[in-house]
Amino acid sequence: MHTGVFNPLDPEQDGKVVTHLSLPYSIDRSPYYQIKIPICHIRNGDGPRILLMAGNHGDEYEGELTLLKFIQRLDPADVNGTVTILPAVNLPAVMAARRRSPLDDGNLNRAFPGDPKGTPTERIAHFIETDLVRRHDFLVDLHSGGTSMAHLPCGLIERNVDPVLHARSLEAMQALGLSYGFIADNGPETPTSIGAAFRAGIPSVNGEFGGGATVTPETMRLTGEAVDRLLMHQGVLNRPILVPDAAAPKETVLLGLDRQNLFIYALREAWFEPAVVLGEKVNAGQTAGWLHDLKEISRPAEALTFEDDGVVLALRLHTHCQAGDCLVAVGRFL
Ligand SMILES: [Zn+2]
Repeated sequence: MHTGVFNPLDPEQDGKVVTHLSLPYSIDRSPYYQIKIPICHIRNGDGPRILLMAGNHGDEYEGELTLLKFIQRLDPADVNGTVTILPAVNLPAVMAARRRSPLDDGNLNRAFPGDPKGTPTERIAHFIETDLVRRHDFLVDLHSGGTSMAHLPCGLIERNVDPVLHARSLEAMQALGLSYGFIADNGPETPTSIGAAFRAGIPSVNGEFGGGATVTPETMRLTGEAVDRLLMHQGVLNRPILVPDAAAPKETVLLGLDRQNLFIYALREAWFEPAVVLGEKVNAGQTAGWLHDLKEISRPAEALTFEDDGVVLALRLHTHCQAGDCLVAVGRFL
C-alpha cells in the first residue's frame, strides 16, 4: 500500500466518471498522504479509445485549461468509444506552477518508462506507460514552451520506426489543422510520453501551444480547435465541443527538429536579445540575436547566427541565461 498507483476506474464501465488516481506518498504533515491526480473517464460503447493528457509539465497551461473545459462540457452521448482525460497529470508540478515536480525534481516527460517503486514522478510515468497507454488506441499529450520559453503553436510527433504507426501519427498531426507540425527524432527508447506510445504500439501526437506560463485567447482557441479536430478525426466525436465556431483548418507545413544545429545555445552567462520573432522564416547565416554582458560593459555584444534555414519554433523568454540554456530552436522545412 506504500508504492504504485491506485486506479478506481473500470475501463469497461459506460458513462462519465470523474475521480482521482492515488499515489501514496507519506510526508511529515500526513503519514497516509496520497497525491490525488484528477482523471475523467467517459465511455459510450465500443469504439476508439483515446487518452488525453496535459500538465505533464506543470507550467504549460493551454492544454491544462482546455482539457479541464473538455471534461466539464463533454457528455457521454457525444462520445463514440472511450475518452480518458488527465488535465494535470503531474499534479505536484501543476500545483507548484513548475515544469518539474517539487517532490522529487522529476521531469515527467523524461521519466518514461518509470518505476513502480520509485519517486512520485517515476510512479506516474510507470502507470501511464504500463497501464493507461496500453488500454488506449491513441495518445494525445498537450504541451507548450512553459515559463521560460515561447513556442510557436504546432503539432509534434517523433519519427516512429514502424511505418504504419508513423503514418497514423502524421495523419493525426495534420488533422489538428495547425499551420505547422514538426517531427522530432529521439529514437524508440525516448523517455517521453511519445516513447511510451511507441513501446505500447499505438500512434500518438503532441501539441505545443504557446508558453510563458500563461494563455491567450488565440492559444486557447487553437488548442480547443486542435483537440476537437483530432477527436473528430479519430471518430470519437461527430461535432466540435470546445470551439463550435472554429476557423477553417490550416494546411500543415511539416518541419524537422532533428539536428543539433537547429538549436542555438548560450555557452556562457549572458543577457540574450533576440533578432527574430516566433514563426519568422530565417536563413543560414542570418543573425538570431546577441549575447550581452552586463558584468563586463566594455565587452562587445556577440552576434549568434542560424546554421540552417527554417522557421523559428521556440524562443527563450528569460533574457538572463546561463551556459547550456537553449535560446532559439528552428524547424527546418521537410
Ligand atoms: Zn512540456
